[in-house]
Amino acid sequence: MVAPTNSNGVIAILVKSTISAPLLSLALAAKFKPRNNVVTATYTIEWKKNFIMSGFPSHLNLAKLNLRAANRKAAASVSGNTKWIDENDARIIYYLRPRARRIRIKMDAANRTVAVTVPGSASKLKDAKRFVLDKYDWILVQLEAFPPAQPFIAGGNVWLRGEIYTLHSPETRGRPKVDTELKHLIVPAHKDTLEGRTKRFLIRTAREALTHCTHVHASALGKTVDKISVRDTSSRWGSCVSRRTGNHISYSWRLICAPPFVLDYVTAHECAHLIHPDHSKNFWNLCNELVDTVKPAESWLKNHGNKLHAVGARG
Ligand SMILES: [Zn+2]
Repeated sequence: MVAPTNSNGVIAILVKSTISAPLLSLALAAKFKPRNNVVTATYTIEWKKNFIMSGFPSHLNLAKLNLRAANRKAAASVSGNTKWIDENDARIIYYLRPRARRIRIKMDAANRTVAVTVPGSASKLKDAKRFVLDKYDWILVQLEAFPPAQPFIAGGNVWLRGEIYTLHSPETRGRPKVDTELKHLIVPAHKDTLEGRTKRFLIRTAREALTHCTHVHASALGKTVDKISVRDTSSRWGSCVSRRTGNHISYSWRLICAPPFVLDYVTAHECAHLIHPDHSKNFWNLCNELVDTVKPAESWLKNHGNKLHAVGARG
């Protein structure tokens, strides 16, 4: 199967083992016009072993062909559609997940929408819609349970380091500032750019705090962290990957909105995974050695974590 998506001139192709190289070349030649001769190909690892370059259209720059193992996100349907909005409720969005086995409903607090997994192929969309209809009452209750949105607008409220700040947007130039006494977050910006500037400022502030705490905890353990990513993750506050090539920790930028002891705890938790890649007793003992706020921080995240997803939400 060749499965294309086309966004910004980049083509992602999911190739499964049954396709022959000439067939792939036909599909490429017929359907896609790669920009700058760059094609991103995504294919399963099994297939990579048998990959034969002959038959590939010569106008493609093979040297620039970026071949990666298939992942869930890159795959697309034959028709090109990977995302559908529900006709009756625009807050419900269906996403095609070729490798998923089951229909899943997930509340997306940051976007205040409902993400529904369409497993396998687009032909399962009908089943997913029926499933949503069955659960619609439950979905409505969940949507109403979202904490009030905190859009980035002048005069709006924003959680920052566990406290409520008011967003001010003077018509001046200059860098964003935090007035910790008045609890003002001052972001000079035009009305149209306020949202983006505020978010970028919070991400930058989060990156500084997360980087600092990570290095403190990692060095206490005699470890180094080679890469720190700050993302907008919906389900996890942090994650840690330890490989021979280096240690990589990712965080949600929204941790900057939580009280500092919570942010500090999450960095200690992820650093402790550099030693214990599990949630064993030894792991928790190590966390308790790094910080003395494991329990209160865990319970804060459990009870208030969803508020962090309301920050910047448009409502
Ligand atoms: Zn963990």
